[in-house]
Amino acid sequence: MSLLVIGSVAFDAIDTPFGSTGKIVGGAASYISLATTLLHDKVGLVAVVGEDFDFDFVDDLKRRGVDVEGLQIKAGEKSFFWHGKYHMDMNSRDTLVTELNVLGDFDPIVPQSWQQPEYVMLGNLSPQVQMTTLNRLTQKPKLVVLDTMNFWMDIALDDLKAVLAKVDVLTINDEEARQLSGEYSLVKAARVIRAMGPHTLIIKKGEHGALLFGGSDEIFFCPALPLEDVFDPTGAGDTFAGGFIGYLASVGRTDFEAMKMAIVYGSAMASFCVEQFGTTKLASITRDELNGRLAQFKALMSV
Ligand code: AMP
Repeated sequence: MSLLVIGSVAFDAIDTPFGSTGKIVGGAASYISLATTLLHDKVGLVAVVGEDFDFDFVDDLKRRGVDVEGLQIKAGEKSFFWHGKYHMDMNSRDTLVTELNVLGDFDPIVPQSWQQPEYVMLGNLSPQVQMTTLNRLTQKPKLVVLDTMNFWMDIALDDLKAVLAKVDVLTINDEEARQLSGEYSLVKAARVIRAMGPHTLIIKKGEHGALLFGGSDEIFFCPALPLEDVFDPTGAGDTFAGGFIGYLASVGRTDFEAMKMAIVYGSAMASFCVEQFGTTKLASITRDELNGRLAQFKALMSV
């Protein structure tokens, strides 16, 4: 099944209690695409970078089978840049810098061959661009998943609500679910948010796992794998989303039972992402290693 991914492809700088990086490759769609390629082989990317970007990374995506025809390269412009600093608990972080650069006026061009994808992952980006991308599809996809963050709730809430009305699944973290719904209880928050459009909601709780709300008021929980080393949680949410939709696209399903397995895949993928800075670890894992992690999850979750 064809899977279209949009989102930021960026430079990040990351400070954690274990050290800091200089400028490294990041961005929501970078993590999502890498995660999907381990599960699925028909992935197309729509994104934008400046001419300063690291094109070895783009070559790596191509080698992994990602179709990058929809990746625009803006001459004379700079790539999106984000600088984040994690607190001691590694669960919360502050954004120190967001430079939109090429994202500021990004017009997502969906190549003709990608205008009828079966699965769509709208990664973190301006909700207006997410909406434009959906409007440029010529056939309704089987499943549209959207990821967003507090930044867009703060500056573009109306646009976000408009696009939420058009998607099937929303993934956000617990703090963002509370901000979007105005409810402290995550059960109440899920009810409010599902009434905004998405029939299914995933609330990510960092090292405390993820909740899946769907069907007729069904709830499923997947823990996060307790890890010895956590260096950098950046991109864990995007990797999770990539694993989630990559699994669903690989089995061609969209039902609640398949989504339960999909959040286990997403969590297994995310568990790799946090073990090294940036995309390094995610880019190195094999299908066998993923299978090993899935077995660890099975053991963790069975009684
Ligand atoms: P996550 O840790 O899953 O929330 O995702 C982190 C990634 O999101 C980083 O690699 C950033 O480049 C990217 N990012 C941060 N802020 C934004 C934003 N406002 N729009 C799009 N992408 C962003």
